[in-house]
Amino acid sequence: MKFDLFVLPFTLGLIFLLGYLTVKYAVWYFKLEKTDRSKVRKGFFSVRIFSAIKEIFLESLLHRRIFLKNRLLGFMHMSLAFGWFMLIAVGNLESRIYQPAEINPLYVPIFFKFFHANPDAFPLHSVFSFVMDLLLLFVLAGVILALAKRLYSKAYGMKRTTRLMTGDRFALASLWLIFPLRLLAESFTSAVYGGGDFLTASVGSLLGNILPVSSLYYPAWWAYSLSLGVFFTALPFSRYMHIPTEVVLIFSRHLGLAEASKRTSFTDIEINSCSRCGICLDTCQLSFAGGVHNIQSAYQLKAIRYKQIEPKESFNCMMCGRCENVCPVGIDISSIRMITRNELNGRAPDPTFQQQPVAQVHHAEAIYFAGCMTHQTPAIKKAMQSIFTAAGINYWFMDEMGGLCCGRPMMLAGHREQAEIMIEKNRRIIFESGAKTLITSCPICYKVFAKEYNLNIRIMHHTQYLLELANARLIRLEPLAGNAVYHDPCELSRDIRIYEEPRKLISKMVKLIPGDYEKDNTLCCGNSLANFSAANEIRLSVARDAFEKLTAQGAQYLVTSCPMCKKAFEKVADVPVKDIAELVSRSMHKDQPHTITANRKKEPSAALVIH
Ligand code: SF4
Ligand code: SF4
Repeated sequence: MKFDLFVLPFTLGLIFLLGYLTVKYAVWYFKLEKTDRSKVRKGFFSVRIFSAIKEIFLESLLHRRIFLKNRLLGFMHMSLAFGWFMLIAVGNLESRIYQPAEINPLYVPIFFKFFHANPDAFPLHSVFSFVMDLLLLFVLAGVILALAKRLYSKAYGMKRTTRLMTGDRFALASLWLIFPLRLLAESFTSAVYGGGDFLTASVGSLLGNILPVSSLYYPAWWAYSLSLGVFFTALPFSRYMHIPTEVVLIFSRHLGLAEASKRTSFTDIEINSCSRCGICLDTCQLSFAGGVHNIQSAYQLKAIRYKQIEPKESFNCMMCGRCENVCPVGIDISSIRMITRNELNGRAPDPTFQQQPVAQVHHAEAIYFAGCMTHQTPAIKKAMQSIFTAAGINYWFMDEMGGLCCGRPMMLAGHREQAEIMIEKNRRIIFESGAKTLITSCPICYKVFAKEYNLNIRIMHHTQYLLELANARLIRLEPLAGNAVYHDPCELSRDIRIYEEPRKLISKMVKLIPGDYEKDNTLCCGNSLANFSAANEIRLSVARDAFEKLTAQGAQYLVTSCPMCKKAFEKVADVPVKDIAELVSRSMHKDQPHTITANRKKEPSAALVIH
């Protein structure tokens, strides 16, 4: 068996890393809920494992998502990850073919050129030498790009990057040294013993003319081994922990694990999977429009991981989902923020809280739940009432007198238990009303009803419901003058993905012009209920910037479908801002169908499909 003392730093570092990861992942596994552990066990022997492997190949090695967002950054990550993986894979193959009869410890393929400096007798020697040189060049290109990014991130289209921690510094320095040192070690060896190919042989012959390579080649192998050992030892305490953990995350997702309302091992896996690539930094409006640069997701996840969380920063986020939308790792950032807020603020509910009054139940086909913010924007509420009446809908305005809340503000404030009490009360009221459809004007209410209430009825945002009324000809819409741009509210777009219904509805009334910030890429109005820290000037600054970007194509008015967005944009707008319900109400033909067929009290068919 081949051996030399210099392999020890590499070997010990690798043993430490594998031991650490085994213990860490075992702890995570055993801390999972019983149902999640069972999902992992069953899923491991199912076909889902193949789709997980495919995603690992595409995302952890090729970094496809990063590549699609930023080619240079994607190439940098890909050349480092895929190139290194291929060096290990091809190196192992080479070593297996070359010495099939011998024990092949892990270090032999890594230091193959030391143990087999010039294996002329090996028939595939020239092929392997060429391929290994090519792969080494590929990885070195990634190292150069990584170095350039650290020095000049603007060239990569990145205005901001994340700061290094101590563990990061050790890991980063050793990572950058690994491949240049490998190049030197192999080139010196080539200069002394021959062998190598277009890269190592050329560099070896060049350096052989100016350096005492015969006395340098052995220290170079030591340095290469040391850099590997330091990297493996520093990895668990650095951002590079994301490399092995992202693989675990992908497997976990494919096996059915997801974020819950409380912190679990899955949360820890997500937090440790953040590579601090910084892609989420520049997309945050609080950063580019509000001048707040310390709350973004990369920083939050780092703070949670190292237990340095600051409540002020944690509550200074609009929960707009823009960062989550671009995160190449697909981390469920919003859920992690909610869990953190609950950990910071959560406390057992006051017993009197349970005795809050509930609404008097009414029986109706449909329930309209305006939501607190709609009550503060009465034009929307009035528009909805006039539409219900015009269409002859048998509805109950559940929160007409105010005093009811969907529960989301409580959750955002970190009081999940209190929110659950409210949800349970509202659920009972809704159930007793016998309604088959629940309509909300507020996207936040919609999201909570849809995701947290577990109601067995149709839940619709008014954009969907009004389109359905129009398609069923229960309301008739007349064209209005002018053109408009539509603003997708965050909660309705990125989260719920209601994109087409509002656009179809608006197009029935006015000319809809496209904007640059649509659908997934929509901008937050700045008025988010989720933010408990931002000063009013910051909110206004975000709203102003968003308004200017949204109306840059010269729209005559801005249409949105969220009471809070309407309120925020009205403060900064120089064109009218309308909720879609107001537009419908204004566009309704005065001779509505229900006035022709008197006293019709019906709901549009539940079977109607919205396309
Ligand atoms: S949260 Fe996602 S986008 Fe942000 S730094 Fe982490 S991995 Fe990158
Ligand atoms: S959710 Fe929105 S406001 Fe919060 S950090 Fe992400 S992009 Fe910024």
